[in-house]
This record gives sequence, C-alpha cells and structure tokens, in this order.
Amino acid sequence: MRIGIFGGTFDPPHAGHKKYADEVRNKLSLDNLIVIPTAAPPHKQKKTSTTAEDRLNMLGLLFEKDSGVLVSDMEIARGGRSYTFETVTLLREQYPDDELIFILGSDMLLSFHTWKNPDVILEKVKICAVTRDGEISKKMLGEYAEKHFPGKKERFIICDFEPIEISSTEIREKVKNGLSVEGLVDAQVMEYIKEKELYL
Ligand code: ATP
Repeated sequence: MRIGIFGGTFDPPHAGHKKYADEVRNKLSLDNLIVIPTAAPPHKQKKTSTTAEDRLNMLGLLFEKDSGVLVSDMEIARGGRSYTFETVTLLREQYPDDELIFILGSDMLLSFHTWKNPDVILEKVKICAVTRDGEISKKMLGEYAEKHFPGKKERFIICDFEPIEISSTEIREKVKNGLSVEGLVDAQVMEYIKEKELYL
C-alpha cells in the first residue's frame, strides 16, 4: 500500500486542510492518508490554545466520511515535542512493507536538512514537497537533494497543488471577533467550535 503522512497543528482544521488531503490522495494515488495532529510542534514556537482532545475530535469530524483517511493520536499520546524522525520510525514499525510518503509544504522543504535526524527520516519514508505552481521545480528539488543528501535524490518527490488562502490563525481571529467562517470550516467542525466555545 501507498500511505501518505500529513502532520499539522490543526487548531482548528479547515477547508484548506481538507482540499490538501483530497488532492494529495488523488495526485499521489494514496491508498491511505494518516493525519497526525502534533502535540507540541518543534517548528512552531507558539503554544496551541486548544486541547489535544478538541483538535482530534474536530479532525475526526472533518474526515469522518473519508474511509481512506485515518486520524492518528500517536504524537498527542506520546506528548512533549513531536519530532518527525520519531514519528516515522514508529510508523515504519507499524507498516514494515508499505510505501510511506511524508508530505510537507514546499516552504518547509528547503530547511528539511536542519530537522533533527533527517537521514533517519529519509531512510524510513519518502518526502513529498507540495509545491504551488511549480514554485519548486524538479531541477531545484534535485539540486537541493544532491547538496544535502547525496545519492538520495530518489527519496524526494513533488506534488503540485494550489492552496486556498485560509489559515487556522485567520479562523481563530474570525471566531473571536464574531465573524462568519462559513465555507472556511466544515459545518460539523463549526458546530463543535460553537458548542465548546473555542477561540473566544
Ligand atoms: P496556523 O494558522 O495556526 O499557523 P495553519 O492554517 O497553517 O495554522 P497547520 O495546522 O499548521 O495550519 O497546517 C498543517 C499543514 O496543512 C501545513 O503545513 C500545510 O502543509 C497545510 N495547510 C495549511 N493551510 C493550508 C491551506 N490553506 N491550503 C492548503 N494546505 C494548507
């Protein structure tokens, strides 16, 4: 099986995340996509204001109709800082014979070599850079790979994608200011936010 791995804070999950998940599943012909909300992201210094349980519940609502999407609590259950090399090592143990593809935004790709134990990550999974309108070309990706990970170029792939201009930050601000987020957030997720009085 071909399995994608999609991490994020998802505070809250929004229509951009959904579109991203749908497109990478399609374009990379994934059998499954594992969505992993992070406990405490090393790349984002801000603390999440929402409980892990709420973020997990909202992701569950967003993806409940997608049978190929599995929302995993593995980083949340582990707690503390979530390092990708640890997560992919565990996933490799769980899925010893499958093709695992870790998906990341192209803005993150060019600093991938500064992550903790990037060689371990590359040994366990392939890296797919999701680029916007060829912003990172195959040639650039190849040059980056050869410079930092000689001989491992084939571990990097590209998937082109046009993001929707939405962020969780924008959603949180809108909710706080009593503005509508219709169309930006799934209706059930919106209900959950209202019920739990999140982001006020
Ligand atoms: P915040 O505003 O709190 O920083 P965010 O909206 O960027 O959050 P994350 O939880 O950090 O959301 O997103 C996880 C991943 O989802 C990102 O690394 C990115 O790859 C993808 N993503 C986020 N927003 C969008 C979007 N609008 N369209 C497509 N993909 C997105």
